Amino acid sequence: MKKLTVAIDGPAGAGKSSVAKVVANRLHYLYIDTGAMYRAFTWAVLSKHVDIADERAVQKLTDTLRIRLEIGRDQCRVYVDDTDVTEAIRTSDVSSHVSAVAALAVVRQKLVQLQRDMAKSGGVILDGRDIGTVVLPDADVKIFLTASVRSRAMRRYLEVQARGNSGSLEEIEASIAARDDMDSHRAIAPLKQADDAILLDNSELDLEGTADAIMKYIEAKGR
Ligand code: C5P
Repeated sequence: MKKLTVAIDGPAGAGKSSVAKVVANRLHYLYIDTGAMYRAFTWAVLSKHVDIADERAVQKLTDTLRIRLEIGRDQCRVYVDDTDVTEAIRTSDVSSHVSAVAALAVVRQKLVQLQRDMAKSGGVILDGRDIGTVVLPDADVKIFLTASVRSRAMRRYLEVQARGNSGSLEEIEASIAARDDMDSHRAIAPLKQADDAILLDNSELDLEGTADAIMKYIEAKGR
């Protein structure tokens, strides 16, 4: 059976990582959460108090930092050097700084190279913003997953509540919209649908329904 490469791009909160995990489990593929890598780098920038306007300091950090994903069946743990940052990268502090850090060329160069290395044997699903356009322009299946900003914010709100954290629906909606705006308008590798990607709007679909739709596209490619 051919081991395909699958790219899922789209705006914040579209459910890319949840659905990528479900599909990866069904296919016994590896799921690579590229957003977690940008978040891990951002966590390091914040905890080391690096000024992102200081190019040399950012360069030094990219040269020395080791970001590693430990991919298991049900979860993916994220490490910066030897520190497990899996939970720490999901804070609102990291979320509100990550788009500015992800806009930096040196950071993208380093992380894109890592992502390509991890994907090179196939049998992988990567989710992010630039997988189909930049990281893996020859991916076998490209999905651009989106939903209305309201339904994306509502899903995030329910996740945040389930974790026992606070935040109003309005705040979450504003933060998602701000992140999408920065991600779509940056100079390098902006969030956009690749010309050959399939557009999937899952505003009216649940997780399983979204996974089923993606599986159909993958099966059509003769996995
Ligand atoms: O996927 P997630 O929402 O965790 O991504 C966090 C941020 O990382 C995005 O808002 C974006 O700024 C950045 N990112 C990126 N390119 C990717 C994945 C994420 O720029 N491939």
